[in-house]
Amino acid sequence: MKLNDLKVDMDYFHMDGNLYQKLEATPLKNPKLVSYNKQACDLIGLDYSECETNEFLEFINGSKVLKNSKPFSMVYAGHQFGYFVPQLGDGRAINLGCVNKWHLQTKGSGATKYSRRGDGRAVLRSSIREYIMSEAMHSLGIPTTRALAIIDSDTFAHREWEKESCSIVLRMSPSWIRIGTFEFFANTSNAKENLTKLADYVIEESYSHLKDEEKKYEKMFYSLVDKTALMLAKWQVYGFMHGVMNTDNFSMAGVTIDYGPFAFMDYFDKNCICNHTDSEGRYSYNNQPYVARWNLMVLAHSLKEICDENKLLEYMQTFLPQHENIYLQDMNKRLGLDASKSGNSNLDLIVELLGALESSKMDYNVFFYGLTNLDSFEDLSSVINLAVFRTPLEDWFESYKKVCEKEKSSFENRKEIMKKANPKYIIKNYMLQDAIELAHSGDYTLVNDLLDIAQNPFDEHKKFDKYSKPTPMKFANIKLSCSS
Ligand code: AMP
Ligand code: MG
Repeated sequence: MKLNDLKVDMDYFHMDGNLYQKLEATPLKNPKLVSYNKQACDLIGLDYSECETNEFLEFINGSKVLKNSKPFSMVYAGHQFGYFVPQLGDGRAINLGCVNKWHLQTKGSGATKYSRRGDGRAVLRSSIREYIMSEAMHSLGIPTTRALAIIDSDTFAHREWEKESCSIVLRMSPSWIRIGTFEFFANTSNAKENLTKLADYVIEESYSHLKDEEKKYEKMFYSLVDKTALMLAKWQVYGFMHGVMNTDNFSMAGVTIDYGPFAFMDYFDKNCICNHTDSEGRYSYNNQPYVARWNLMVLAHSLKEICDENKLLEYMQTFLPQHENIYLQDMNKRLGLDASKSGNSNLDLIVELLGALESSKMDYNVFFYGLTNLDSFEDLSSVINLAVFRTPLEDWFESYKKVCEKEKSSFENRKEIMKKANPKYIIKNYMLQDAIELAHSGDYTLVNDLLDIAQNPFDEHKKFDKYSKPTPMKFANIKLSCSS
Protein backbone atom coordinates (compact mmCIF):
# COMPACT_ATOMS: atom_id res chain seq x y z
CA MET A 1 0.00 0.00 0.00
CA LYS A 2 1.10 3.55 -0.68
CA LEU A 3 1.79 5.84 2.27
CA ASN A 4 -1.15 8.04 1.32
CA ASP A 5 -3.50 5.06 1.23
CA LEU A 6 -2.84 3.94 4.82
CA LYS A 7 -6.09 3.91 6.74
CA VAL A 8 -5.53 5.86 9.93
CA ASP A 9 -7.98 5.66 12.87
CA MET A 10 -8.06 8.24 15.61
CA ASP A 11 -9.70 6.71 18.66
CA TYR A 12 -8.67 8.73 21.72
CA PHE A 13 -10.62 11.93 21.34
CA HIS A 14 -13.69 10.76 23.22
CA MET A 15 -11.61 11.18 26.40
CA ASP A 16 -11.86 14.40 28.39
CA GLY A 17 -9.99 17.16 26.49
CA ASN A 18 -7.67 17.71 29.48
CA LEU A 19 -6.20 14.25 29.04
CA TYR A 20 -4.42 14.86 25.74
CA GLN A 21 -3.14 17.65 23.53
CA LYS A 22 -3.67 17.92 19.78
CA LEU A 23 -0.54 19.46 18.29
CA GLU A 24 1.88 19.67 15.40
CA ALA A 25 5.39 18.24 15.34
CA THR A 26 8.39 20.57 15.14
CA PRO A 27 10.32 19.12 12.20
CA LEU A 28 14.10 18.56 12.24
CA LYS A 29 16.51 20.31 9.84
CA ASN A 30 17.69 18.30 6.82
CA PRO A 31 16.15 14.96 7.75
CA LYS A 32 18.10 11.90 6.54
CA LEU A 33 16.87 8.33 6.42
CA VAL A 34 18.98 6.05 8.62
CA SER A 35 17.01 2.83 8.25
CA TYR A 36 13.58 1.37 7.71
CA ASN A 37 12.26 -1.98 8.83
CA LYS A 38 10.54 -4.22 6.31
CA GLN A 39 8.96 -6.44 8.98
CA ALA A 40 7.26 -3.41 10.50
CA CYS A 41 6.12 -2.23 7.07
CA ASP A 42 4.44 -5.61 6.62
CA LEU A 43 2.58 -5.17 9.90
CA ILE A 44 0.86 -2.03 8.66
CA GLY A 45 0.75 -3.05 4.98
CA LEU A 46 3.13 -0.36 3.72
CA ASP A 47 5.07 -0.90 0.45
CA TYR A 48 8.84 -0.95 1.08
CA SER A 49 9.47 1.33 -1.89
CA GLU A 50 7.50 4.06 -0.14
CA CYS A 51 10.22 4.24 2.52
CA GLU A 52 12.76 5.41 -0.05
CA THR A 53 10.72 8.51 -0.95
CA ASN A 54 11.07 12.07 0.18
CA GLU A 55 7.46 12.02 1.24
CA PHE A 56 8.21 9.22 3.72
CA LEU A 57 11.02 11.30 5.21
CA GLU A 58 8.59 14.19 5.61
CA PHE A 59 6.09 11.84 7.20
CA ILE A 60 8.56 10.65 9.84
CA ASN A 61 9.75 14.21 10.34
CA GLY A 62 6.19 15.40 10.96
CA SER A 63 6.11 17.93 8.13
CA LYS A 64 3.66 15.69 6.30
CA VAL A 65 0.53 14.50 8.10
CA LEU A 66 -1.43 11.56 6.69
CA LYS A 67 -5.06 11.97 5.72
CA ASN A 68 -7.31 11.50 8.79
CA SER A 69 -4.34 11.65 11.17
CA LYS A 70 -4.69 14.20 13.99
CA PRO A 71 -1.42 14.12 15.92
CA PHE A 72 -1.68 14.26 19.69
CA SER A 73 0.22 13.67 22.93
CA MET A 74 -1.17 11.97 26.03
CA VAL A 75 -0.88 12.88 29.66
CA TYR A 76 0.05 10.30 32.27
CA ALA A 77 1.55 10.15 35.75
CA GLY A 78 3.87 7.60 37.29
CA HIS A 79 5.98 6.31 40.10
CA GLN A 80 9.59 7.10 39.23
CA PHE A 81 12.03 5.14 41.40
CA GLY A 82 9.20 4.61 43.85
CA TYR A 83 8.11 8.25 44.12
CA PHE A 84 4.81 9.45 42.72
CA VAL A 85 5.03 12.17 40.06
CA PRO A 86 1.49 13.48 39.51
CA GLN A 87 2.02 14.68 35.97
CA LEU A 88 4.18 13.27 33.22
CA GLY A 89 3.15 12.61 29.65
CA ASP A 90 4.38 12.30 26.09
CA GLY A 91 7.07 14.94 26.45
CA ARG A 92 8.70 14.11 23.16
CA ALA A 93 6.37 11.57 21.59
CA ILE A 94 3.50 12.30 19.23
CA ASN A 95 0.79 9.79 18.39
CA LEU A 96 -0.21 9.69 14.75
CA GLY A 97 -3.15 7.29 14.99
CA CYS A 98 -3.77 3.61 14.54
CA VAL A 99 -3.10 1.56 11.40
CA ASN A 100 -4.07 -2.10 11.33
CA LYS A 101 -4.24 -2.23 15.16
CA TRP A 102 -0.74 -0.70 15.49
CA HIS A 103 -0.60 2.69 17.18
CA LEU A 104 2.03 4.78 15.45
CA GLN A 105 4.11 7.18 17.47
CA THR A 106 7.09 9.34 16.60
CA LYS A 107 9.62 9.88 19.39
CA GLY A 108 11.70 13.05 19.26
CA SER A 109 9.24 15.20 17.27
CA GLY A 110 9.53 18.31 19.44
CA ALA A 111 8.14 19.82 22.61
CA THR A 112 4.60 19.13 23.81
CA LYS A 113 2.49 20.43 26.67
CA TYR A 114 4.04 17.63 28.75
CA SER A 115 7.72 18.33 28.03
CA ARG A 116 8.37 19.97 31.42
CA ARG A 117 12.01 21.12 31.17
CA GLY A 118 12.86 18.79 28.28
CA ASP A 119 13.52 19.84 24.69
CA GLY A 120 11.18 17.29 23.11
CA ARG A 121 14.04 15.69 21.23
CA ALA A 122 15.62 12.24 21.06
CA VAL A 123 19.29 12.00 20.12
CA LEU A 124 20.46 9.61 17.43
CA ARG A 125 22.19 7.39 20.00
CA SER A 126 18.99 6.65 21.89
CA SER A 127 16.87 6.19 18.75
CA ILE A 128 19.30 3.66 17.29
CA ARG A 129 19.25 1.76 20.57
CA GLU A 130 15.47 1.59 20.71
CA TYR A 131 15.11 0.78 17.01
CA ILE A 132 17.45 -2.21 17.04
CA MET A 133 16.65 -3.48 20.49
CA SER A 134 12.91 -3.69 20.05
CA GLU A 135 13.47 -5.84 16.97
CA ALA A 136 16.00 -8.04 18.81
CA MET A 137 13.49 -8.58 21.60
CA HIS A 138 10.74 -9.50 19.16
CA SER A 139 12.96 -12.08 17.46
CA LEU A 140 13.52 -13.79 20.81
CA GLY A 141 9.78 -14.01 21.43
CA ILE A 142 9.79 -11.29 24.09
CA PRO A 143 6.64 -9.13 23.91
CA THR A 144 7.63 -5.64 22.79
CA THR A 145 6.78 -2.53 20.82
CA ARG A 146 8.23 -2.44 17.29
CA ALA A 147 9.98 0.29 15.28
CA LEU A 148 9.45 1.12 11.62
CA ALA A 149 12.02 3.74 10.72
CA ILE A 150 14.60 6.14 11.99
CA ILE A 151 15.83 9.50 10.70
CA ASP A 152 18.87 11.62 11.56
CA SER A 153 19.18 15.39 11.02
CA ASP A 154 21.19 18.59 11.25
CA THR A 155 19.32 19.70 14.37
CA PHE A 156 21.41 19.31 17.52
CA ALA A 157 20.64 18.89 21.21
CA HIS A 158 22.80 19.10 24.33
CA ARG A 159 23.14 15.97 26.42
CA GLU A 160 25.51 15.80 29.37
CA TRP A 161 28.70 17.35 27.93
CA GLU A 162 28.07 16.70 24.27
CA LYS A 163 26.19 18.22 21.38
CA GLU A 164 24.43 15.37 19.61
CA SER A 165 22.37 15.11 16.44
CA CYS A 166 18.62 14.78 16.87
CA SER A 167 16.64 12.01 15.31
CA ILE A 168 13.15 10.60 15.24
CA VAL A 169 12.14 6.97 15.53
CA LEU A 170 8.73 5.85 14.35
CA ARG A 171 7.65 3.22 16.81
CA MET A 172 4.46 1.23 17.02
CA SER A 173 2.62 -0.57 19.75
CA PRO A 174 -0.67 -2.41 20.21
CA SER A 175 -1.20 0.24 22.92
CA TRP A 176 0.60 3.23 24.37
CA ILE A 177 -1.49 3.22 27.56
CA ARG A 178 0.67 2.80 30.63
CA ILE A 179 0.01 1.96 34.27
CA GLY A 180 0.86 5.65 34.76
CA THR A 181 -2.06 6.65 32.53
CA PHE A 182 -4.41 4.96 35.01
CA GLU A 183 -2.62 6.68 37.88
CA PHE A 184 -3.26 10.07 36.28
CA PHE A 185 -6.91 9.31 35.50
CA ALA A 186 -7.47 8.05 39.05
CA ASN A 187 -6.42 11.45 40.36
CA THR A 188 -8.82 13.52 38.21
CA SER A 189 -11.97 15.06 39.72
CA ASN A 190 -14.29 12.76 37.74
CA ALA A 191 -12.06 9.74 38.21
CA LYS A 192 -14.75 7.08 37.93
CA GLU A 193 -15.94 8.24 34.51
CA ASN A 194 -12.41 8.79 33.18
CA LEU A 195 -11.19 5.43 34.46
CA THR A 196 -14.18 3.64 32.95
CA LYS A 197 -13.52 5.19 29.56
CA LEU A 198 -9.83 4.37 29.76
CA ALA A 199 -10.44 0.78 30.84
CA ASP A 200 -12.96 0.33 28.01
CA TYR A 201 -10.37 1.72 25.62
CA VAL A 202 -7.67 -0.67 26.86
CA ILE A 203 -10.08 -3.60 26.60
CA GLU A 204 -10.91 -2.60 23.03
CA GLU A 205 -7.21 -2.34 22.14
CA SER A 206 -5.71 -5.27 23.98
CA TYR A 207 -8.37 -7.49 25.58
CA SER A 208 -11.27 -7.35 23.13
CA HIS A 209 -12.37 -10.88 24.11
CA LEU A 210 -13.49 -9.36 27.45
CA LYS A 211 -15.72 -6.68 25.94
CA ASP A 212 -19.05 -8.27 26.81
CA GLU A 213 -17.99 -10.04 29.98
CA GLU A 214 -19.19 -9.33 33.47
CA LYS A 215 -16.50 -7.92 35.77
CA LYS A 216 -14.54 -7.01 32.69
CA TYR A 217 -12.29 -4.48 34.43
CA GLU A 218 -11.18 -7.04 36.98
CA LYS A 219 -10.58 -9.50 34.17
CA MET A 220 -8.56 -6.92 32.25
CA PHE A 221 -6.32 -6.64 35.29
CA TYR A 222 -5.97 -10.43 35.62
CA SER A 223 -5.00 -10.70 31.94
CA LEU A 224 -2.39 -8.01 32.36
CA VAL A 225 -0.97 -9.81 35.40
CA ASP A 226 -0.65 -12.97 33.28
CA LYS A 227 0.98 -11.12 30.39
CA THR A 228 3.38 -9.26 32.64
CA ALA A 229 4.43 -12.47 34.40
CA LEU A 230 5.26 -13.93 31.01
CA MET A 231 7.12 -10.82 29.84
CA LEU A 232 9.23 -10.73 33.00
CA ALA A 233 10.02 -14.44 32.74
CA LYS A 234 11.29 -13.91 29.20
CA TRP A 235 13.37 -10.90 30.29
CA GLN A 236 15.00 -12.99 33.01
CA VAL A 237 15.57 -15.99 30.76
CA TYR A 238 17.55 -13.89 28.26
CA GLY A 239 19.21 -11.63 30.82
CA PHE A 240 17.41 -8.49 29.65
CA MET A 241 17.43 -5.54 32.00
CA HIS A 242 15.05 -2.67 31.31
CA GLY A 243 16.83 -0.13 33.47
CA VAL A 244 13.89 2.20 34.27
CA MET A 245 10.91 0.14 35.38
CA ASN A 246 8.90 3.17 36.49
CA THR A 247 5.13 2.71 36.31
CA ASP A 248 4.98 5.21 33.42
CA ASN A 249 7.21 2.84 31.46
CA PHE A 250 4.93 -0.14 32.05
CA SER A 251 2.50 -1.06 29.31
CA MET A 252 -1.16 -1.98 29.76
CA ALA A 253 -0.72 -4.39 26.85
CA GLY A 254 2.01 -6.33 28.69
CA VAL A 255 4.75 -5.48 26.19
CA THR A 256 8.20 -3.99 26.77
CA ILE A 257 8.07 -0.23 26.15
CA ASP A 258 10.28 2.86 26.44
CA TYR A 259 13.78 1.58 25.86
CA GLY A 260 16.34 3.68 27.74
CA PRO A 261 19.50 2.50 29.52
CA PHE A 262 18.61 -1.19 28.97
CA ALA A 263 21.07 -4.05 28.49
CA PHE A 264 21.30 -7.69 27.74
CA MET A 265 23.59 -8.82 30.50
CA ASP A 266 27.13 -9.58 29.39
CA TYR A 267 28.71 -11.85 32.03
CA PHE A 268 26.24 -13.23 34.56
CA ASP A 269 25.72 -11.17 37.70
CA LYS A 270 22.40 -11.57 39.45
CA ASN A 271 22.67 -8.12 41.04
CA CYS A 272 23.62 -6.43 37.80
CA ILE A 273 22.48 -2.79 37.47
CA CYS A 274 22.50 -1.30 33.98
CA ASN A 275 21.28 2.21 34.80
CA HIS A 276 23.94 4.56 36.10
CA THR A 277 21.42 6.66 38.06
CA ASP A 278 19.98 3.61 39.84
CA SER A 279 22.49 3.79 42.67
CA GLU A 280 20.44 1.59 45.01
CA GLY A 281 19.79 -1.09 42.42
CA ARG A 282 16.01 -0.77 42.58
CA TYR A 283 15.89 -2.03 39.00
CA SER A 284 18.71 -4.57 39.21
CA TYR A 285 18.35 -7.83 37.27
CA ASN A 286 17.27 -9.85 40.27
CA ASN A 287 14.73 -7.28 41.44
CA GLN A 288 12.87 -7.01 38.15
CA PRO A 289 10.05 -9.51 38.83
CA TYR A 290 9.43 -7.95 42.26
CA VAL A 291 9.32 -4.45 40.79
CA ALA A 292 6.85 -5.60 38.13
CA ARG A 293 4.69 -6.99 40.92
CA TRP A 294 4.95 -3.68 42.79
CA ASN A 295 3.93 -1.79 39.63
CA LEU A 296 0.87 -4.01 39.23
CA MET A 297 -0.05 -3.30 42.85
CA VAL A 298 0.03 0.41 42.03
CA LEU A 299 -2.33 -0.29 39.15
CA ALA A 300 -4.65 -2.31 41.39
CA HIS A 301 -4.86 0.68 43.68
CA SER A 302 -5.56 3.08 40.79
CA LEU A 303 -8.43 0.85 39.63
CA LYS A 304 -10.22 0.79 42.98
CA GLU A 305 -13.01 3.13 41.79
CA ILE A 306 -14.05 0.64 39.13
CA CYS A 307 -12.90 -2.71 40.56
CA ASP A 308 -13.02 -4.64 43.79
CA GLU A 309 -9.45 -3.92 44.89
CA ASN A 310 -9.33 -6.94 47.21
CA LYS A 311 -10.07 -9.25 44.31
CA LEU A 312 -7.24 -7.68 42.35
CA LEU A 313 -4.82 -8.07 45.24
CA GLU A 314 -5.90 -11.66 45.70
CA TYR A 315 -5.10 -12.38 42.04
CA MET A 316 -1.69 -10.79 42.48
CA GLN A 317 -0.71 -13.85 44.50
CA THR A 318 -0.52 -15.77 41.24
CA PHE A 319 2.04 -13.39 39.76
CA LEU A 320 5.28 -14.86 41.14
CA PRO A 321 4.24 -18.51 40.73
CA GLN A 322 3.21 -17.84 37.11
CA HIS A 323 6.46 -16.03 36.49
CA GLU A 324 8.51 -18.84 38.01
CA ASN A 325 6.70 -21.50 36.01
CA ILE A 326 7.38 -19.86 32.68
CA TYR A 327 10.94 -19.00 33.66
CA LEU A 328 11.71 -22.62 34.56
CA GLN A 329 10.07 -24.00 31.44
CA ASP A 330 12.13 -21.70 29.24
CA MET A 331 15.36 -22.26 31.15
CA ASN A 332 14.88 -26.00 30.70
CA LYS A 333 14.67 -25.37 26.97
CA ARG A 334 17.87 -23.34 27.09
CA LEU A 335 19.50 -26.43 28.66
CA GLY A 336 17.89 -28.80 26.18
CA LEU A 337 16.03 -30.55 28.98
CA ASP A 338 12.50 -31.79 29.35
CA ALA A 339 11.70 -31.35 33.02
CA SER A 340 8.61 -33.56 32.87
CA LYS A 341 10.88 -36.57 32.26
CA SER A 342 12.81 -36.15 35.48
CA GLY A 343 9.63 -35.38 37.37
CA ASN A 344 10.70 -31.98 38.62
CA SER A 345 11.41 -28.52 37.24
CA ASN A 346 15.21 -28.89 37.42
CA LEU A 347 15.16 -25.87 39.70
CA ASP A 348 18.24 -27.00 41.63
CA LEU A 349 20.25 -27.49 38.47
CA ILE A 350 19.28 -24.05 37.20
CA VAL A 351 20.09 -22.32 40.47
CA GLU A 352 23.43 -24.14 40.57
CA LEU A 353 24.12 -23.02 37.00
CA LEU A 354 23.48 -19.36 37.80
CA GLY A 355 25.91 -19.56 40.71
CA ALA A 356 28.51 -21.28 38.52
CA LEU A 357 28.13 -18.74 35.72
CA GLU A 358 28.56 -15.93 38.20
CA SER A 359 31.62 -17.30 39.93
CA SER A 360 33.26 -18.37 36.68
CA LYS A 361 32.69 -14.90 35.11
CA MET A 362 31.00 -16.27 32.05
CA ASP A 363 29.18 -14.42 29.29
CA TYR A 364 25.57 -15.40 30.00
CA ASN A 365 24.11 -15.85 26.53
CA VAL A 366 27.31 -17.06 24.90
CA PHE A 367 27.33 -19.90 27.42
CA PHE A 368 24.01 -21.23 26.11
CA TYR A 369 25.13 -21.00 22.51
CA GLY A 370 28.29 -22.92 23.43
CA LEU A 371 26.24 -25.55 25.23
CA THR A 372 24.01 -25.97 22.18
CA ASN A 373 27.04 -26.85 20.08
CA LEU A 374 28.64 -29.23 22.55
CA ASP A 375 29.02 -32.78 21.21
CA SER A 376 30.50 -34.64 24.14
CA PHE A 377 31.08 -34.43 27.89
CA GLU A 378 34.68 -35.65 27.39
CA ASP A 379 35.88 -32.33 26.07
CA LEU A 380 34.20 -29.29 27.60
CA SER A 381 36.87 -26.84 26.55
CA SER A 382 34.79 -25.14 23.85
CA VAL A 383 32.48 -23.91 26.60
CA ILE A 384 34.69 -23.77 29.66
CA ASN A 385 37.50 -21.88 27.96
CA LEU A 386 35.12 -18.97 27.45
CA ALA A 387 34.97 -18.40 31.20
CA VAL A 388 37.55 -16.56 33.29
CA PHE A 389 37.51 -19.25 36.05
CA ARG A 390 36.97 -22.87 35.06
CA THR A 391 36.20 -24.90 38.19
CA PRO A 392 32.64 -23.74 39.00
CA LEU A 393 31.45 -24.67 35.54
CA GLU A 394 33.33 -27.98 35.50
CA ASP A 395 31.52 -28.88 38.72
CA TRP A 396 28.16 -27.83 37.30
CA PHE A 397 28.67 -30.05 34.26
CA GLU A 398 28.84 -33.05 36.61
CA SER A 399 25.32 -32.24 37.83
CA TYR A 400 24.10 -31.55 34.30
CA LYS A 401 25.43 -34.89 33.09
CA LYS A 402 23.47 -36.67 35.83
CA VAL A 403 20.20 -34.94 34.87
CA CYS A 404 20.79 -35.72 31.20
CA GLU A 405 21.32 -39.38 32.10
CA LYS A 406 18.18 -39.40 34.24
CA GLU A 407 16.17 -37.92 31.36
CA LYS A 408 17.84 -40.39 28.98
CA SER A 409 18.37 -37.58 26.48
CA SER A 410 21.04 -37.59 23.80
CA PHE A 411 23.17 -34.72 22.56
CA GLU A 412 21.02 -34.72 19.41
CA ASN A 413 17.74 -34.51 21.39
CA ARG A 414 19.03 -31.64 23.42
CA LYS A 415 20.51 -29.86 20.46
CA GLU A 416 17.10 -29.92 18.73
CA ILE A 417 15.52 -28.17 21.73
CA MET A 418 18.38 -25.76 22.34
CA LYS A 419 18.72 -24.67 18.71
CA LYS A 420 15.36 -22.91 19.00
CA ALA A 421 16.10 -21.27 22.34
CA ASN A 422 19.74 -20.22 22.12
CA PRO A 423 20.57 -17.71 19.40
CA LYS A 424 24.09 -17.23 18.09
CA TYR A 425 23.71 -13.46 18.43
CA ILE A 426 22.43 -11.32 21.28
CA ILE A 427 22.56 -7.58 20.76
CA LYS A 428 24.85 -6.20 23.44
CA ASN A 429 25.42 -2.56 24.30
CA TYR A 430 28.97 -2.49 22.92
CA MET A 431 27.66 -3.54 19.49
CA LEU A 432 25.07 -0.78 19.57
CA GLN A 433 27.87 1.59 20.53
CA ASP A 434 29.86 0.55 17.42
CA ALA A 435 26.82 1.31 15.24
CA ILE A 436 26.23 4.63 16.99
CA GLU A 437 29.83 5.79 16.55
CA LEU A 438 29.75 4.99 12.83
CA ALA A 439 26.36 6.67 12.47
CA HIS A 440 27.75 9.82 14.06
CA SER A 441 30.19 9.97 11.16
CA GLY A 442 27.28 9.69 8.70
CA ASP A 443 27.67 5.97 7.98
CA TYR A 444 24.47 4.08 8.78
CA THR A 445 25.49 0.68 7.39
CA LEU A 446 26.13 -0.93 10.76
CA VAL A 447 22.69 0.18 11.99
CA ASN A 448 21.20 -1.76 9.11
CA ASP A 449 23.53 -4.73 9.62
CA LEU A 450 22.65 -4.91 13.31
CA LEU A 451 18.97 -4.70 12.43
CA ASP A 452 19.46 -7.76 10.24
CA ILE A 453 21.31 -9.60 13.02
CA ALA A 454 18.67 -8.55 15.56
CA GLN A 455 15.90 -9.91 13.35
CA ASN A 456 17.73 -13.15 12.50
CA PRO A 457 19.74 -13.96 15.63
CA PHE A 458 19.77 -17.72 15.04
CA ASP A 459 21.37 -17.39 11.59
CA GLU A 460 25.04 -17.27 10.68
CA HIS A 461 26.30 -13.77 9.94
CA LYS A 462 29.82 -14.64 8.84
CA LYS A 463 31.03 -11.06 8.58
CA PHE A 464 30.00 -10.42 12.18
CA ASP A 465 31.25 -13.60 13.82
CA LYS A 466 33.08 -11.47 16.41
CA TYR A 467 29.69 -10.39 17.79
CA SER A 468 28.89 -14.00 18.69
CA LYS A 469 31.86 -14.13 21.10
CA PRO A 470 31.91 -13.11 24.78
CA THR A 471 31.74 -9.36 25.30
CA PRO A 472 35.28 -7.97 25.67
CA MET A 473 35.79 -7.43 29.42
CA LYS A 474 36.41 -3.69 29.05
CA PHE A 475 32.86 -3.29 27.66
CA ALA A 476 31.10 -5.81 29.90
CA ASN A 477 28.24 -4.90 32.26
CA ILE A 478 28.87 -1.17 31.93
CA LYS A 479 26.23 1.12 33.45
CA LEU A 480 24.57 3.57 31.05
CA SER A 481 23.21 7.01 31.78
CA CYS A 482 19.52 7.86 31.45
CA SER A 483 20.16 10.85 29.16
CA SER A 484 18.69 10.29 25.75
P1 AMP B 1 11.63 8.29 30.22
O1 AMP B 1 12.46 8.04 31.42
O2 AMP B 1 12.40 8.43 28.93
O3 AMP B 1 10.53 7.30 30.09
O4 AMP B 1 10.98 9.74 30.43
C1 AMP B 1 10.27 10.15 31.57
C2 AMP B 1 9.44 11.37 31.23
O5 AMP B 1 10.25 12.45 30.79
C3 AMP B 1 8.42 11.11 30.12
O6 AMP B 1 7.23 11.78 30.45
C4 AMP B 1 9.08 11.71 28.90
O7 AMP B 1 8.16 12.12 27.95
C5 AMP B 1 9.87 12.87 29.48
N1 AMP B 1 11.07 13.19 28.70
C6 AMP B 1 12.22 12.48 28.62
N2 AMP B 1 13.11 13.09 27.82
C7 AMP B 1 12.53 14.21 27.36
C8 AMP B 1 12.93 15.29 26.50
N3 AMP B 1 14.14 15.30 25.92
N4 AMP B 1 12.03 16.26 26.27
C9 AMP B 1 10.83 16.26 26.85
N5 AMP B 1 10.39 15.31 27.66
C10 AMP B 1 11.22 14.30 27.93
MG1 MG C 1 9.00 6.73 29.44
